Amino acid sequence: METIIGFEIHEQLATRTKLYCDSPTNYRDVPPNTNVCEVCTGMPGAKPHPVNQEAIDAVVEIALMLGCEIVKGPIYIQRKHYDYPDLPSGYQRTSLPIGRNGNLNGINIWEVHLEEDPGKYDPTSGKVDYNRSGVPLVEIVTAPDLRSPEEARNFLRELIKILHYTGKARAEGGTMRTDTNISLEGGARVEIKNINSVKGAYKALKFEIARQKSLRKRGAAVRRETRAFLEAQMITKTMRLKEEAEDYRYIPDPDIPPLLITPEKIAEIKAAMPETPGMKERRFVAQYGVKPEDAKVLASELELANAFEEVAKEVDPQFAATWVRDELKRVLVYNDKSFAESGIGTGQVVDLLRMIQAGEITPKTGKKILEILVAKPQPVERIVEEMGLGKIKADDIIEKACEEAVAENPQAVADYLGGKGEALNYVVGQVMRKTRGRADAKTVLEMLKKKVQG
Ligand SMILES: [Zn+2]
Repeated sequence: METIIGFEIHEQLATRTKLYCDSPTNYRDVPPNTNVCEVCTGMPGAKPHPVNQEAIDAVVEIALMLGCEIVKGPIYIQRKHYDYPDLPSGYQRTSLPIGRNGNLNGINIWEVHLEEDPGKYDPTSGKVDYNRSGVPLVEIVTAPDLRSPEEARNFLRELIKILHYTGKARAEGGTMRTDTNISLEGGARVEIKNINSVKGAYKALKFEIARQKSLRKRGAAVRRETRAFLEAQMITKTMRLKEEAEDYRYIPDPDIPPLLITPEKIAEIKAAMPETPGMKERRFVAQYGVKPEDAKVLASELELANAFEEVAKEVDPQFAATWVRDELKRVLVYNDKSFAESGIGTGQVVDLLRMIQAGEITPKTGKKILEILVAKPQPVERIVEEMGLGKIKADDIIEKACEEAVAENPQAVADYLGGKGEALNYVVGQVMRKTRGRADAKTVLEMLKKKVQG
């Protein structure tokens, strides 16, 4: 039984001011109802300012990044009417499509719109905060091309990556709001609202598929309806039946002239646009000879990708790719940090890789230093010096460790002398342990061979 999933995704745009007025958008940092004016609180007679150009440009850029064609216009701004305390004017302004017919990793993007955020209403206290009212949003509507919750999750992650790449969407978490529609082959379409994260989308879809399947098993029909996702309980619950769906009474806003997007404007935005993660991936393979799977991980985070390119200028790109992708990424994931959050400078990574390549520290020590760096960024040389992590050069220390290891492992030595060559590797391991990984393995092997045969 095929599962059919589509999304409507909303993300705030990172503009300084709101969409139809000059009120600032940093509503998280200020007390409730301070970033407001007569326009964004819907006072009678208040007229919207001209549409925020920064927001229009951002939507055009996002649409282009998603491979959309741009509608040249006239693009009308519509009033979508509904009654809720978060909407002081009684309507939300939403544009007709600005971008159309895009594609992201094989998933068709139907439309990209510009919208305004409503305020924030707390039904428990009955209080409304209009700081958010009028903050610009991009709305992205996909075709129902997704076939499983896993695929849906990957798609959303990829989309967030693109939005982050543009720098035009809010970087802070928790601003993405998603509605999803889902049906099982031949069944009614159910819409789920109130999804606020990728994880939430995944859980909501998982729950909904199980619910619809169990209804079918019992011979009951799935109703066409809108359901709310209750994140705390990880379930969906009926909001309204589709038959009773509201009529939004869409009309073009008579106060706002329709948008016109000129070919010159599109060309200007295209010229300044960043590479998409996919383009970056392909370029890394072509330009640096990096393995495709390494390139994918490196391009997954813009700052990590930039760091890799900086490092690759200074050390062998393949060596840099392996270390940034495997080791640095592993430590970052373990510490639940992005590269940007870690505060590590590319200079520190370059220093570290140079020391490993020059044989001044062992790869094992290198890994340890990365862990220290992620915990607390500081000059690599200082870590090496303060912690005494430099490779042991003094032969007498290694020699002593070898002597001890030989004395402690007579069986392994006997096996080696009896013709089992690999038995000596075990003894090498013991020496490395005694020297905390700071001895050169080759030197140790040579020294041990001399000792046991001597
Ligand atoms: Zn305002």
